[in-house]
Amino acid sequence: MSFASFDLHPSVLQAVEEKGYHQPTPIQLEAIPAILARRDVMAGAQTGTGKTAAFALPILHLLTNPAPSATAINKAVVRALVLTPTRELAQQVGHSFKEYGSHSVHRTVVAYGGVSINNQLAEIAQGVDILVATPGRLIDILSRGVLDLSQLAFFVLDEADRMLDMGFIDDIRRILRTVPETRQTLLFSATFDDAVFKLSQKLLTDPARIQV
Ligand code: AMP
Repeated sequence: MSFASFDLHPSVLQAVEEKGYHQPTPIQLEAIPAILARRDVMAGAQTGTGKTAAFALPILHLLTNPAPSATAINKAVVRALVLTPTRELAQQVGHSFKEYGSHSVHRTVVAYGGVSINNQLAEIAQGVDILVATPGRLIDILSRGVLDLSQLAFFVLDEADRMLDMGFIDDIRRILRTVPETRQTLLFSATFDDAVFKLSQKLLTDPARIQV
């Protein structure tokens, strides 16, 4: 099974080729077709399994048709929002989107706390298709009214178990109130306890369940 059989956009396939990936990993084999079929996904996968490409590649493919980097009345129109528990993971995931999207026209912006918000706001002002953020910083940015999430097509929670362990449930609930009901939601978690399961029930509609 090769990446070519997923029928991904040539710009995405070219980036995969340049990364030197020959075969999809097990999580990619299952998640990519489910996401391309526009299903919600609930995936049990550890770091190192290739989970980032499992959601980034189909998201980049599906975002390839609409016009990128739109702004509406001075707000950046975000198409995909990825929440991560930590700054390090936000940086890694943002870097992956930039690499996998290196031949696509989308803009990825990464926003996390512990550093000045001004550079992040300046980047957002130039337009953002894919926003990778930690919950607290995202709420801060949302409160400034610079983001338009009404066109959001993808909402991804990466390492959901860690996000709950770190006490982000109220932030996640607040963020949820600002995203449209019609989005496609992808939840990745290394473990599934009651809290993650409860969150997944609230967030996901008839998800494809994947465990690797
Ligand atoms: P992740 O689990 O997303 O943190 O990815 C772990 C590592 O696997 C990263 O260094 C990726 O570049 C790499 N990787 C992801 N997908 C593949 C693949 N299909 N073949 C080889 N390496 C991959």
